Amino acid sequence: MKRYRIATVPGDGIGKEVIPAGRRLLETLAAGSRSFAFDFEDFDWGGDYYRRFGVMMPDNGLDELRDMDAILFGSAGDPDIPDHITLWGLRLKICQGFDQYANVRPTRILPGIDTPLKRCGPKDLDWVIVRENTEGEYAGVGGRVHQGQPIEAATDVSMMTRVGVERVLRYAFELARSRPRRQLTVVTKSNAQRHAMVMWDEIAHEVAAEFPDVRWDKELVDAMTARMVNRPASIDTVVATNLHADILSDLAAALAGSLGIAPTGNIDPQRRYPSMFEPIHGSAFDIMGQGLANPIGTFWSVVMLLEHLGEAEAAARVMSAIEQVTANRALHTRDLGGDATLQQVTDAVCAAVAGPAAKAA
Ligand code: ATP
Repeated sequence: MKRYRIATVPGDGIGKEVIPAGRRLLETLAAGSRSFAFDFEDFDWGGDYYRRFGVMMPDNGLDELRDMDAILFGSAGDPDIPDHITLWGLRLKICQGFDQYANVRPTRILPGIDTPLKRCGPKDLDWVIVRENTEGEYAGVGGRVHQGQPIEAATDVSMMTRVGVERVLRYAFELARSRPRRQLTVVTKSNAQRHAMVMWDEIAHEVAAEFPDVRWDKELVDAMTARMVNRPASIDTVVATNLHADILSDLAAALAGSLGIAPTGNIDPQRRYPSMFEPIHGSAFDIMGQGLANPIGTFWSVVMLLEHLGEAEAAARVMSAIEQVTANRALHTRDLGGDATLQQVTDAVCAAVAGPAAKAA
């Protein structure tokens, strides 16, 4: 029997509700499996940890995670701590420390869920957005001088390296090749940003030459937002810079019905370090502690985690349990217009996962 070591980092806000639900789902799966089991280790890092120790995670935190097979992460954000501290002190520290350079965000309209788009059926929206996850606009390069003075100045420099661009584009082309349509859109802004984005375009042409079987096109990021709304079926796999993809994937999540559904994986394709899976929503303090959080984004992240571990059959089983549950509108949480609770949705998905396994045994 294979044993996987899984780190759970609930973080802040509703992360503390959805991650235990995700762990319960994995435990339910393992209970019905003769081929794999999970050993969990929970890390109480985040805003409360910061209040006690002055840091979001300990200095040797990455060492504690290094030997894990995967990380299931909730969210980092606290109303009393500046966002750049919560983000850089925990989530980005792990993403950058483990060189998780491809952030992968699938988007689909799940059964039973309404999209705000008119004339758009489930078949018209099936995307995966790949976000460059280690450099670009979020490289952390910049500075601030003369704070509070009239002459105050600040910069955030977008830094792109040939290695960084090439590897994420290659990952995206490979991902596009693995999907039935074999189609990739490279998002750019090289009309206005005439240095790094021009290099990005040039490297896209070079890498594309290695993938003659992938149809690809280039789209300016502003035009891409309109295309996502007006011609969703023309899109399949997408690759964009850190900032561009950050924005596009929130739009994608909203078009697919709710921020509460969308998952993401922060992947180290070379598997030198553990990859990290998380719902794309934040800490949502407005609904925290009320049992209202939608756990589907976390459950879909569990699907991605299982796929990454090579447990394709288990991943498919969880995805079909999720779809079974979203198809039932009585099990929609408030973000989807329903009044189901996190507990009810979790019970239903776990029951759907356990059902076929119990019958098979
Ligand atoms: P952060 O600062 O950590 O990003 P935020 O509250 O600014 O947090 P989100 O957490 O992404 O941003 O929430 C945006 C809105 O979407 C909130 O009104 C929140 O209640 C809602 N929301 C987000 N995730 C969920 C979820 N899983 N279930 C239900 N509603 C959600």
